[in-house]
Amino acid sequence: MATITIDGNVFEVENNLTIIQAARNNGIDIPHFCWHPQLSVAGNCRMCLVEVEKMPKLVIACSTQVANGMIVHTKNPRVIQARQAVMEFLLINHPLDCPICDEAGECKLQDYAYAHSIGYSRFEEEKVHKPKRVELGAHVMLDTERCIMCSRCVRFCDEIAGKPQLTFTQRGDHVELTTFPGEKLDNPYSMNVIDICPVGALTSRDFRFKARVWEMSATETICPGCARGCNMNTWVRNNEILRQTPRYNPDVNQSWMCDWGRLETLRQVNSDARIRGPLMKKDTGVVEVGWDEAVVRVSSELKSFRKGEIAVLGSAFDTNEDNYALQRFAREVLQTRNLDFKRHEAPGQEDRLLISSDRTPNTRGAVEVGLHPGEHGANVEAIVRGIREGSIKSLLLVDDNLAADAAIAQILSRLEFLVVLASVENETTRLADIVLPTSTYAEKNGTFTNLQGRVQRIRPSVATLDQDRALDGFAMSRLDKLGSQFDRWAKGAKRDARPTWRIIAGIALLMGGRFKYQTAEDVFADIASHVDAFSGMSYRRIGNKGMLLKSGKEMRVHQPA
Ligand code: SF4
Ligand code: SF4
Repeated sequence: MATITIDGNVFEVENNLTIIQAARNNGIDIPHFCWHPQLSVAGNCRMCLVEVEKMPKLVIACSTQVANGMIVHTKNPRVIQARQAVMEFLLINHPLDCPICDEAGECKLQDYAYAHSIGYSRFEEEKVHKPKRVELGAHVMLDTERCIMCSRCVRFCDEIAGKPQLTFTQRGDHVELTTFPGEKLDNPYSMNVIDICPVGALTSRDFRFKARVWEMSATETICPGCARGCNMNTWVRNNEILRQTPRYNPDVNQSWMCDWGRLETLRQVNSDARIRGPLMKKDTGVVEVGWDEAVVRVSSELKSFRKGEIAVLGSAFDTNEDNYALQRFAREVLQTRNLDFKRHEAPGQEDRLLISSDRTPNTRGAVEVGLHPGEHGANVEAIVRGIREGSIKSLLLVDDNLAADAAIAQILSRLEFLVVLASVENETTRLADIVLPTSTYAEKNGTFTNLQGRVQRIRPSVATLDQDRALDGFAMSRLDKLGSQFDRWAKGAKRDARPTWRIIAGIALLMGGRFKYQTAEDVFADIASHVDAFSGMSYRRIGNKGMLLKSGKEMRVHQPA
């Protein structure tokens, strides 16, 4: 350990830290552009200059290691003057187009211009002009004039994505960021460069010019795109998700997420094919009905079959709460052993950084909460066989498009009664006698258990007509903050979707089940008191970083060599 003094305060710090790390660990922020905690040190922006007593010149805090007895000044007149000079140089050629820049409101250069520059420009000459709309790849646009050459994006591609695709050309104030000749920025993690760019040089082609950042609210949740369960924020304006960005969790995804998870998972939420309310097949065709009518019909139809004639298929796309309620319903109310869910493994699609071959967010959790046939029950294959052979006559199927496979679709069409819980129209909903619309990951509270066995919270960012959101303690505190904005959303929300656990609890009630759940948190409390692996857990304890199952084994986030 080393004893160092920063701005008059004495700290005990690890010997192997740099000044910027030691300061940060002790709550002192030293301004910086090129330094990033997950990247190598470049030391090129000079913004983190500090004075160390007995050293003749100012030093950069990002690459100077602490030493015992070191006395550091981060805001004395000499340091402040140096910082102002760096800002003045950076702004000489900067276009200052904040009013039309996507980064405005979350831009380091803008923030530092207020905090650390002299407040006016002495530069009267013509600025150097460079290309302003360069398509670096399918998802990332470069405004070359805004780039301050910090090299964060270059280092990200080299060191994290493991795909060197970006570099600098030219010299002096004509330096430009570019891709290597003939290359595109097309690695599966390319959009992370947008998040770490400290200015508005790199922008998302998907989100570009859609909203100013202060018009949106951010909700801390989990990507449902694969079993990694990357932590992310969903950004919403007027009840529509406009972008998703990674949220730091050192145990899961560090600061990164893949482009697919960022862009594709939100499409189901905003989809035109969303089911707006319960649907029922009648003699006249498929008609929209109310929840009461739909649930009464489901319960009375299910009652007309014998135990062994009914099967239940849940979903690894659903939460622990959804699947726990579903397996209770199957075991306690329907008393069927035909209970399972379909796995979605895509061997070969995984990589060494984050992407998992399990394309669902909650396979581990589904098994842990009991969504499996047990020793003598029927699994997915046996259920499909049973339907084909006629021994299984009725199926309750949740959030999985089994009929996307034409052969399976033909088998499902033999069922006497098919009830499907789904959020978007698909081949399976078209076969169903009754469709009950489910909330997506962005519209409900709950938990996913990732491939490490880490239980993580999802939270609603988009309103449906369902009241789950308003009943949840966490959501209420957010609502208080959002105030009238939420009222507008709730009134504007058109989808009458509900979380699976709530739909199942409603059906169970009509069939003699006693599921006394008001909120997703109630279901989770039931899980924690009945499933060993979850014992001791609560939403409060899970917090923002998640909690490992008792049986969970933590695995390190792999980095490319
Ligand atoms: S584009 Fe952004 S991240 Fe890349 S070098 Fe320029 S300022 Fe840095
Ligand atoms: S790696 Fe998986 S969890 Fe992470 S962002 Fe991609 S799809 Fe989502």
